[in-house]
Amino acid sequence: MEIIRGYKTELDLNHKQRTACLQHAGSARFTYNWGLARKQAAYAARKVAADPTSVKIPTAIDLHKELNALKPTEFPWMYESSKCAPQEALRDLDTAFSNFFAKRAKYPKFKKRSKGIGSFTLTGAIHVGPDWIQLPVIGKVRLFEHGYLPQDTDLHTTDRKTRKKWKKKGRVVTEPAHYLSATVSERAGHWFVSVQVKAIVPDPEPATGNPSGVDLGIKTLAVCSDGQEIPNPKALRGNLDKLKRTSRHHSKKKKGSNNRKKSKQQVARLHYRVGCIRENALHQATATITAKAKPSSKRPQAIILEDLNVAGMLKNHKLAQAIADVGLGEFRRQMTYKSHWYGNRLYLAPRFFPSTQLCSQCHRLPSVPLDLSVRTYCCEHCGLVLDRDLNAARNLLWLYTASSAEIDALGENVRPMVLALAAVSLKKEPNTE
Ligand SMILES: [Zn+2]
Repeated sequence: MEIIRGYKTELDLNHKQRTACLQHAGSARFTYNWGLARKQAAYAARKVAADPTSVKIPTAIDLHKELNALKPTEFPWMYESSKCAPQEALRDLDTAFSNFFAKRAKYPKFKKRSKGIGSFTLTGAIHVGPDWIQLPVIGKVRLFEHGYLPQDTDLHTTDRKTRKKWKKKGRVVTEPAHYLSATVSERAGHWFVSVQVKAIVPDPEPATGNPSGVDLGIKTLAVCSDGQEIPNPKALRGNLDKLKRTSRHHSKKKKGSNNRKKSKQQVARLHYRVGCIRENALHQATATITAKAKPSSKRPQAIILEDLNVAGMLKNHKLAQAIADVGLGEFRRQMTYKSHWYGNRLYLAPRFFPSTQLCSQCHRLPSVPLDLSVRTYCCEHCGLVLDRDLNAARNLLWLYTASSAEIDALGENVRPMVLALAAVSLKKEPNTE
């Protein structure tokens, strides 16, 4: 199958390159804001127009044409950076608007320099060596990590040892990797490049292990119905305390002072560090669930997740911090593409499925809804005593088992829940990282 994989790694920029990157990011930010203003004006004109259909909202292509016409007179400085940066910024703007109209995101905002340098995307000729990447206009940039970015198309694994072994067996196809785009971004003084690579990998063997229900835990990051727990990273706690302390100190510094600038950097660095820990934990968790790194177990043939909506979650479901921070959407996204890679089928339980309330042994609801602070589930009907998260995970598994059994044989109150179990397909999630 053909997949598009993302790789992100840190750049080791020299002074000249850093200036070029700042210029490109500035150009992208400026274009985004310019395009947003143009679109806003068009929407405002449409509102007051007698015939709203006569007012056309400019698309990224329209705006790019318009920008090109303005460049020689209005924005000659734009010629110093690649034309890709503004072009991709306008495309991002279109995406921002369609996400807003699809109710996936808030209304697009203007980008401020004070909120961060931001990022820019380049397309075209991108070449990669063991410790460098060649980007259009910017040139050859050193990478901190050696041998991480793929130089060939066989990307089934990024594990260097495995790749070496494969090479020995003659399995690696040594065509150069096909790079689609590179996005350069800055975070807390570090510069990164994230590249999209097209690759053809062998189809995964269908997973044959027992199906697994996965509950996103409160105490732990996630709990599987077979009892496997994925704990929260230990490093998180200490860094969170430190972050709280540093931000408190920062807020007390005099505005405009040098000390405030310094403490701002400190806070940014800590945010970055905490973000890294969380991101890593989430990647490990989704990989563990889909690929089952444990040697004793097979990859689960089906994985059943809760379909949590974020608004509802904030009200009554204090999720593990790693997931709450990186986002449920991100968790779902990773689960979707990883289950595609590893040959598991992914299902979402319906929103109204009471996975935490139901008893996983006798499948009855308690007469009084369970208080969310109670850590242990005690069933009043059959006397089951079980960890709350594990009970929920088992309920999700039961939902799957019941739906593959005879639907007619199920009780009246169970049938709608089982019928609503939805399989998740990959078509919406082209991006992977
Ligand atoms: Zn029970």
